[in-house]
Amino acid sequence: MKILVVEDEVKTGDYIKQGLSEGGFVVELVRNGLDGHHKAVTGNFELVILDVMLPDIDGWKIMSSLREAGNHTPVLFLTARDSVKDKVKGLELGADDYLVKPFAFAELLARVRSLVRRTIAAPTNILAIADLQLDIPSRIATRAGRTINLTTKEFTLLELMVRRQGEVLPRSLIASQVWDINFDSDTNVIDVAIRRLRAKIDDDFSVKLIQTIRGMGYKISAADNE
Ligand code: CA
Repeated sequence: MKILVVEDEVKTGDYIKQGLSEGGFVVELVRNGLDGHHKAVTGNFELVILDVMLPDIDGWKIMSSLREAGNHTPVLFLTARDSVKDKVKGLELGADDYLVKPFAFAELLARVRSLVRRTIAAPTNILAIADLQLDIPSRIATRAGRTINLTTKEFTLLELMVRRQGEVLPRSLIASQVWDINFDSDTNVIDVAIRRLRAKIDDDFSVKLIQTIRGMGYKISAADNE
C-alpha cells in the first residue's frame, strides 16, 4: 500500500508520514507541488494525500491534471480552508475526500483506510477468460486485443458464460437467463446462438473457449477441450 503525501509544511508532512508508516503504509513524502505532480503521475500509488496550498503549483492543479491524464488514483485533500466553496471545488475536480486542518491523526487514518478499502473492494468491470475480455459497462468484447462485434443477445450470452466459466450451463438455464423465457427442450435457438458466438470468438483462434458438453449443455473454459 503506497501512499504519496504532498505537503509543504515540514511538521505536518513529517507527522503524517510517521503516523501512516506506523499504520503499516509505505509513504513517500514530497514538499512541493512540482515534485508532487511528477510523482503522482509517474508513481504507482494507491492513494494521494494533497495539501491545497503549496508554494509552486497548488493541490487543485495537481488534481485536475492527474484526472485529465486519465489517472483515477483516489485523492484526499488537506487544507486549512474551511469554506463550502473550497470543498465543492475540490470534490468537483474529482477529489475523493477532504480533510480540514488541523485534524486529529486518528481521523486521517480512518479516512485513509476507508479510501484504500474502497479501491480494493471496487467491483471489477472487466470479466476475462484466457485472452477474451468483456468490458461490462461499455459492452465491448475483445479477444487478444481485437474487438469482436456482438449483438446484444450474444454479449449477454457470453457474459453469462464467462461469469460462470468452467460450469456446464444447461440449455434451459441459458434460455431463461438470456432470453427470459423457457424454450421447449427440442428448440435449437440456443444451439444456433452458440454456433454464431463460436464463429465470432473461437474460429480465428487456436484455443477454443466454448465447449459443447454432449447431452448437458455448454460451458466456457480455457482448459483443453474434452
Ligand atoms: Ca501548505
